[in-house]
Parts: sequence; structure tokens; C-alpha cells
Amino acid sequence: MSTMRKTKIVCTIGPRTETYEMLKTMACRGMNIARLNMSHGDHGWHAQVIHHLKRINRKVGTTVAILLDTKGPEIRTGDVNPDIPLKKGDSLTFTIRREAVLEPHCVEVSYDGFIDDVSVGDTILVDGGMISLEVINKTALDILCRSLDEGLLSSRRHLNIRGKSAALPSITEKDWEDIHFGIAQGVDFIALSFVKTSAAIVELQDYLQARKAKIDVIAKIESADAIPHLAEIIEVADGVMIARGDLGAELPFEEVPHLQEEMARRCRQAGKPVIVATHMLESMIINPTPTRAEVTDITWAVLQEVDCTMLSGETATGKYPLKALEVMDGVARRTEQRQQLDLKVRVEASGKSKPEIARCAAILNNNLQAKAILVFTRRGLMAVLVSGCRPNAPIYAFTNTSHVRRRLAIYWGVQAFIVKFSRAPETTICRALELLTGKNIVAPGDRVIVVSDILAGGRFVETVQVRII
Ligand code: ATP
Ligand code: MG
Ligand code: MG
Repeated sequence: MSTMRKTKIVCTIGPRTETYEMLKTMACRGMNIARLNMSHGDHGWHAQVIHHLKRINRKVGTTVAILLDTKGPEIRTGDVNPDIPLKKGDSLTFTIRREAVLEPHCVEVSYDGFIDDVSVGDTILVDGGMISLEVINKTALDILCRSLDEGLLSSRRHLNIRGKSAALPSITEKDWEDIHFGIAQGVDFIALSFVKTSAAIVELQDYLQARKAKIDVIAKIESADAIPHLAEIIEVADGVMIARGDLGAELPFEEVPHLQEEMARRCRQAGKPVIVATHMLESMIINPTPTRAEVTDITWAVLQEVDCTMLSGETATGKYPLKALEVMDGVARRTEQRQQLDLKVRVEASGKSKPEIARCAAILNNNLQAKAILVFTRRGLMAVLVSGCRPNAPIYAFTNTSHVRRRLAIYWGVQAFIVKFSRAPETTICRALELLTGKNIVAPGDRVIVVSDILAGGRFVETVQVRII
């Protein structure tokens, strides 16, 4: 029996991984979701990658889902030429003046409201803390700062104000253009960057629904402002990404591991998929082996039973994209082997039949040590509910649309297949069992749990069954 990795892997696609061959290799070696970051690359570039991915899914039979990550209201410096070397105590001016030539040690900021958001005494972080500057003085157009560290300021660097989030709208004009692109391209997920409250998520969900676009909205938690609203955000979002980079710049970085633990727990309780992102194998951008601390970080995320871990620069621009994927895959598998899963069974009754059936399937599976759980589901809900219980065995979901199949790529422990749904449920179940035995996933004599409708007196009834193949 082949073992399935339950923790899914999201890979950011960039110049290092843009070719058909490279994407195919990544898909075959365990990439579950391809992430396209709209902060980089133009629509032509992204469309080409999407085209390759769809062709790979069709030809190779993989199930790589596509996640479009919006740029969001991020603040960047303008171009500096040459780079500005800074020593501790050096002055630097951020300006919203739009002049072709600025005086030395003066850089443009991409967002005019930066002046209003910043106060004297604030700390401005460049690239999440590679350089820190203290705000000394402020005029209508300029922010005078003093460098707190030594560093080199280059072009288009990301800026944060410690402890604050920018007052920019959550979905910018560029984001709407990118969202239109995503709808036209049929992406599976849109990640909204710098989400602060549930409002932007609901706005996008309504917009997508009005256009009949079946795209799930993932809330990226990377703003300090989002933290007081976590409960409402998790409630409305279709999933959450813990974007640790900006989060650790707006908040003290020692808060990040605790927020990760809290968000992972809350998402699991709410049955929402959660992605842990940023710096998971950062050193592998230049080195062929990970630091032991990075290995431990992945291990912790897997032990927290998150749905996905993510690679960013490691696969987008790094020297060793395939090695990074291999390391993430290997560490997750090793951890899952040793993991003591506690069934996540709610103590109180839900009062609803579907969650109770899912819980029942998970309990049966664990107590009987079954080899697999087969879930027949048109829209995917039943598979999501079983996944939320974190059972021991892999969950094989059978659906009849490729959209639902790809959408299930984000959920812990679920591998989805397409099967033709027959009017007689038993026929569909037999087809699915044939498919799994054909792939050597299960073998005759194995015990499996089946969650499926049966036809009883002309009506469909949902059942949980124990079967020996
Ligand atoms: P974010 O904060 O949204 O994650 P980022 O700049 O950190 O933004 P990542 O998606 O994490 O970007 O990717 C890491 C790096 O890989 C980027 O900084 C960029 O240099 C490079 N990169 C990512 N996607 C692309 C792309 N499509 N084209 C070119 N370079 C890319
Ligand atoms: Mg971003
Ligand atoms: Mg990043």
C-alpha cells in the first residue's frame, strides 16, 4: 500500500520553476498547490504558467490546484540607484514627492498615505526587519528617519510600520484587475493579502458568487490589525494563510509562533483549511541542505496538524527548488509516521447529520484500524468534514467534477479522484474500489470505511459502511 502524505505542500512558482518540464516534475514529486504571487510577474507570464499546469493535470493525471495570491495594500520603496549603504545613526528620508531626481539619502514611497500612517517615534522596517529606522521628524511630504542598524537599501523594498497596519483599502485597484484575471483563468483559490477584518473577504466572496466563479477565498493573516478580528475572519473565510513574514514585522516576532499555534487550532475547530507560510526552508534558496531549525519548524507545523505548509522564494527563485520540495515532503512524511493523532471529535453534539456521520466514519476507521476512508461527495463537503476529524487513515474522496477535485487539494489527508456517478450508488462504489486497487492503494482483503449514499426504497440515504474488499 502506498502511503499518502497528509500535510499538503504549496509551492510558489517563479522564474526557477516556470517551464512545463519543471512544473511537471514538481507536480509528480508532491506539489499539491501552485501559488502565483501577483506582486511579481505580469498577466502574460502567469497565464503561461496556468496553461502549463492545466495541461499537466490533464496529461499526467495530477491534481495541482492553483492559488492566486493578491499583492494587496503593500508599501514599497521606489527605485534607488545606486543602492544606499546605511550605517547606524545615518539619516534617510522617505518621501511622497514624485520627482525624477531626489537628493541623496532620499527614497520614494509607493503610497501617499504613508505620511499620515507614520508618527514621530515609530519604527519603520525594511523587508521585515533587515533594516530598522526610527522616525525623527515629519513634514507634509517627507519622513525623516535615523537608521538603527547597518544595511544596504536597494530598490522596491517592502516597508512596515511596527505595530501598525497601513490605512490602505484591503482590495486595491490592481487587486481587482488580478481578480478578474483569476476568474477568467479559472483559478481555484484567491488569497487576499493584508486582510484586517471579515469585510473584504465577504466583499470578494459576494463578487465571485455574483459572477458564478467557484473560487475559494483564503484570508492572509499578515497585519497587526487582523489579530483582534481572527474569530470573524476564520468564520467567513474559506481558508487561512499564516503569512509569518509581515506578521513578524508588524508585531514582535516572538508573537508569531504563538499566533501560528492559535490560528492552527482555531481553524481546525472551525473546519477551515490553514496554510503555514514564509521562511520554512529559506536557507535552501542558496544552500542544498536545510538548517536543522527549519526541519524542526516544518515538523512543528505537521504536529499542529495544519493542512498545508508552503514554499516561497525556495521554489520561485531559489537554487534548489526540487531539493526544497523533497525536504519538505520527507520531513512531513517522517513526522506523520510518528505522529500520535488524537481524533478531533467535538465533545458536544453538532445536531446536524453530516458532521455526525463524518465523526462516525473517523471513529470507525480508527477503532477498526481500517486502511482507508472512501468518501463519495459531489461538492466535497463530506470529505472536508471527515478531514476535519483528522482520522488515522487516508481519505479518498470521489467526486464527479474536476473543480471539486482540485479544491480538495488544500485539505489535510484528502486525495480526490473523479468517478462517474451512476444512479446506482453501488456501481459508483465498485468503480472507485477498482480505481484504488488498480493504483495499488488498497488490496483485496483490506478493510475500508465507506461514506456514501445508498438507494433505499427509491430514496437516497447517507451511510457509513465497513467493508472488506
Ligand atoms: P509576499 O509578501 O506576498 O510573500 P514576496 O516578495 O515575499 O511577497 P514570494 O511570493 O514570497 O514574494 O516569493 C519570494 C521571491 O520570489 C520574491 O521576492 C520574488 O523575488 C520572487 N518571485 C516570486 N514570484 C515571482 C514571479 N512570478 N516572477 C519573478 N519573481 C518572483
Ligand atoms: Mg504579498
Ligand atoms: Mg513571501
